[in-house]
Amino acid sequence: MIRVLGTIFAGILGLAFGSFLNVCASRWPAGESMVRPRSHCRSCARALAWWENVPLASWLALGGRCHGCRGWIGCRYPLAELAVGVLWAISAWRFFAMALDPRMPAALVFYELAKTAGALLFLWLLTALAVLDAEHLWLPDKLTLSGAVIGYLFFLGQLFSAQKLASLTGLPLTAGLEKAPWGFYDIAGRRLLAVFAAAGLVLLIRWTYWLLRRREGVGLGDAKLMAMLAAWLGLPGALVAFVLGVTLGFLAALAALARSAGQQESWATARLPLGAFLCIGGAVSNLWGQQIIALYMRWRGF
Ligand SMILES: [Zn+2]
Repeated sequence: MIRVLGTIFAGILGLAFGSFLNVCASRWPAGESMVRPRSHCRSCARALAWWENVPLASWLALGGRCHGCRGWIGCRYPLAELAVGVLWAISAWRFFAMALDPRMPAALVFYELAKTAGALLFLWLLTALAVLDAEHLWLPDKLTLSGAVIGYLFFLGQLFSAQKLASLTGLPLTAGLEKAPWGFYDIAGRRLLAVFAAAGLVLLIRWTYWLLRRREGVGLGDAKLMAMLAAWLGLPGALVAFVLGVTLGFLAALAALARSAGQQESWATARLPLGAFLCIGGAVSNLWGQQIIALYMRWRGF
């Protein structure tokens, strides 16, 4: 019961944070302030009543149109809210399964709580980046680079407390960190290498593409996004995100090709928001990366 209520609460909180994400994603690219003026319709500038501002519910009740001018609000608002809500609910569902286990020592519950809080921030960042890249082909350094730094610092904190806890309780931790026979600095150094390797992978593809086509294919923002993914997920997790993202991007390109067949605009010059697909891959990798890697290992016979 607590697990269900906690998950619902996390989902509702996620909807609210998704709503805040929408404010940022609408105002930031336009260079507007995040706090002033109050929420307003983007087409008629009318200030919104409180009941027009309820995440998801208002959009559904209004049929996606402004109550004043009947202007189309856009699908992004409910989608981003729903995305954060669902991702947060899944994370909370997992956390409560662990936290409510009576055999779980309190120290480990706090450890998992901190880990889950980090995951919520990471998933929110990914949703924000996906929206900005999908709408503006823009992955702001302020999000990707600071996201990478925060992710790395968070990893260090997690590593430090995992090792402390392991020596205190003698219990195996879920982070997969304590199994390594290396010390703190080795693991910390490896994660830092992973960050640069992930960015390097994208840079390598970028240069190769430029040598072959003399045209920019993959943006620098994608390299910084990969660095952020590796900081949070480690190299295997970031590679899972990369493969998923590129596959999704490829499928989207095929769909665009099928739709624009016979039209003037060439699909090869149309730009695809690869970063948005990488973000989706990152979210999947955050939630199910361990299982995906385990499946792959079994398939390869390791
Ligand atoms: Zn309006």
